Amino acid sequence: MDFISKILDFIFPPACGICGKLGQGYLCSNCERELEKYKIRTNIRTQRYHLFRYEQDIRDKILDYKFNDKSYLYHLFYEILIKDKNACEFLGDYDIIVPVPIHRKRKWKRGYNQCELVAKKIGTNLGICVVTDALEKKVHTVPQSSLLRQERLQNAKDVYNVKNPSKIENKKVVIFDDIYTTGATAYECKKTLELAGARKVGVMTIAKD
Ligand SMILES: [Zn+2]
Repeated sequence: MDFISKILDFIFPPACGICGKLGQGYLCSNCERELEKYKIRTNIRTQRYHLFRYEQDIRDKILDYKFNDKSYLYHLFYEILIKDKNACEFLGDYDIIVPVPIHRKRKWKRGYNQCELVAKKIGTNLGICVVTDALEKKVHTVPQSSLLRQERLQNAKDVYNVKNPSKIENKKVVIFDDIYTTGATAYECKKTLELAGARKVGVMTIAKD
């Protein structure tokens, strides 16, 4: 941890992102235990990893994080991820992490890409390169969450583009996203990256609906 972070932690001590308790980092031991019941047991040899079912606290926190300006919650999601040995082992099989991009207009409006913040912190900690300038969202679409399941595939179709193929060519790439619902976003990103030359493309999401 750098000096500035230490000072900031002293002035604003980290609180549990779920219950607000101080003194145990961004996820207290009690909430960590509580979250266990939403965990999805995933075989790390598959190419898709989801940490939780999209329910209760997990659902509320993801919605807060995405839509209610609570960017600081990335600390919570990072902490959840880093404490999950299986998830870290799954990520360890990849050369680079590519957070699912959002359109520049949405990023400007929200101020951050929620997947990017978590991915950068986890990547730094695990020593896996996080590439944010290879894949872009070239079309500004309505949020997938506002659509019916059958509309989502069409809404995500052909909206991604690889602008820096050299960064992903021949690499084992893991796409990082917050929620997996129909898989339309993950499918489109995977297809786009594979066409541009990625050797293997896996998917990790915090939750699965
Ligand atoms: Zn707590």
